[in-house]
Amino acid sequence: MRRVLTADAVNMAIESREADMTARLRIMADRIGNSIFMQDTTEGTYAADLMLLSSVFDSRIIAADSELKIVYDSYDNDTGHYLISDAAVKAIKDGAVSGYDEELGLIEIAIPVTAYDSDLEAEITEGVLLAAASPEKVLREVDEKERRALIIEILAIVILTGVAAAVAAVVVRPFDKVTGAIRSAASFDDSTPAVSDYKETEEIVDAFNEMRTQMKALDQSRQEFVGNVSHELKTPMASIKVLADSINMQPDAPVEVYRDFMKDISEEIDRENNIISDLLALVKMDKGVGALNIENRNINMLLENIIRRLGPLAKKNEVDIVFESIRQVDADVDETKISSAFMNLIENGIKYNKKPGWVRVKLDADHRFFTVTVSDSGMGIPEEALPHIFERFYRVDKSHSREIGGTGLGLAITRRTILLHRGSVKAESVLGEGTVFTVRIPVGYIA
Ligand code: ADP
Repeated sequence: MRRVLTADAVNMAIESREADMTARLRIMADRIGNSIFMQDTTEGTYAADLMLLSSVFDSRIIAADSELKIVYDSYDNDTGHYLISDAAVKAIKDGAVSGYDEELGLIEIAIPVTAYDSDLEAEITEGVLLAAASPEKVLREVDEKERRALIIEILAIVILTGVAAAVAAVVVRPFDKVTGAIRSAASFDDSTPAVSDYKETEEIVDAFNEMRTQMKALDQSRQEFVGNVSHELKTPMASIKVLADSINMQPDAPVEVYRDFMKDISEEIDRENNIISDLLALVKMDKGVGALNIENRNINMLLENIIRRLGPLAKKNEVDIVFESIRQVDADVDETKISSAFMNLIENGIKYNKKPGWVRVKLDADHRFFTVTVSDSGMGIPEEALPHIFERFYRVDKSHSREIGGTGLGLAITRRTILLHRGSVKAESVLGEGTVFTVRIPVGYIA
């Protein structure tokens, strides 16, 4: 199939062939000019040289004398005839002519053959060398070159595509492996973490394993929490059931016994309510729902109010509350939430105390933080229990805490509230002597 060659490529090829032929023909014209070839074509090797040139350039070469009589024709057709060629005439008159005759479809070059006449002391024109070549061969060569270039292009594309695919496969392989490993380690049931055989993916795998460990811990604590919640909610229900059943079993029991049982049932219902309220408060804070409603408040007044509200309970427990305010403190807090946090700490100080006992609340501040210390003269917390008291449903003495109406959620809520205020809380205790809770909160809320 013949392809369409680009015009530029064809023109360039023809021009270069023209220049080449002109140069070779000029050399021949110079040599012939200094010989008697025009008179005797058997002279020297000129005829053989012209024939060689004719075959090299795939062209017809004609030599004619100054009268345009053909003395040599490489095709041997017209020797002896007169040369009819505008180019030849022009060459004899004006010098070398070359060009592509589009009409004839021929590259034509005419070079005058001149010699120095010592008698006349001038250059005289002895004849002309005319070369006519069809560009067919040139076109074939260009075509061939382009075909070769195309093949090389196609080969290059095929090879490059292959190389690119191979490189991509090598690059992607570690990621494929990681995806596989992550999938197989995604379930918590399987205790083996994801592993990486490749350096490139090591960090991804490490990050994934870290996240996996955290999620596993989270899942475990969620399961424990659900278990604890169910248990805690069932306990008051079980008591209510037992109380109700025992009344039913004594249809003739006196009214006083009924009243007693109903009072116990009512207390159990209150307990259930407290647990549910605390749970809802915790869940809300965990979800960040209704995050803090921050306002600048006087902390001295806030603590005084809490202490006043706890007065009756303190009196009942024979506990003396002392408020020691080192300075006036205004701080950005969520009044309701932080009040219940401090209330819980002071209430615990009263509840887990001796009779008689004391609770001391101290407020101090520097320019960045305010500190509230709640100390009591109570029963203290055993060393091994201390790290757990902020956990949900953790109680040192379940029956005692139950007896005094604790849900085991108070300190968990307190800690969460303080953390939401970007603060910290710590507990120190000596068993049998008392406990100190220290709360530190930034004066200005850090959003
Ligand atoms: P509760 O509702 O049982 O009081 P909390 O979360 O407030 O739950 O407290 C958890 C546990 O920590 C309590 O059950 C109690 O054993 C212990 N505790 C808390 N505060 C004190 C304190 N001031 N003195 C001694 N023990 C305390």
